[in-house]
Amino acid sequence: MSYQATEQVLDKHKRIALVAHDNQKSALAKWCEDNKSILKRHFLLGTGTTSKLIAEATGLPVKGFKSGPLGGDQQIGARIAQSEIDMLIFFWDPLEAQPHDPDVKALLRIAVVYDIPVANNRATADFLISSPYMNEEYRHQVLNYDKVLEERVKNLNAK
Ligand code: PGA
Repeated sequence: MSYQATEQVLDKHKRIALVAHDNQKSALAKWCEDNKSILKRHFLLGTGTTSKLIAEATGLPVKGFKSGPLGGDQQIGARIAQSEIDMLIFFWDPLEAQPHDPDVKALLRIAVVYDIPVANNRATADFLISSPYMNEEYRHQVLNYDKVLEERVKNLNAK
């Protein structure tokens, strides 16, 4: 199926979602501390436990959602679908299964659908945070399902 695209803008002040599985939480908190001077220019949010640990480690405000296994990943995914999140830093655990693996997969998928930058490890997070786009607007094409939806309704009504 082909989709039409529509232009969207990631503002120069990014809304950055932060999520880490238990074995990765200290690594993400350390990354946030190391990049505090840049992150303080943006708006941070995250899953319940991760957001609290990062707020403690950096002293920066981090809006917290529910804990990941209790729906936090889905809350973040929903906000990506509403274009309310511009970037995802998600240090997931490559060595341990999670009770909410389906939610993890759904979050990663929706981030690709809405074409937001995603880092799943420190190296990628370092590349992202040193990108000139961090301090600029970034214009990109995001699929526009509204047109597909219109067509589908038209076709179903014609039956
Ligand atoms: P947590 O959730 O920050 O509440 O631990 C993260 C996750 O496991 O997805």
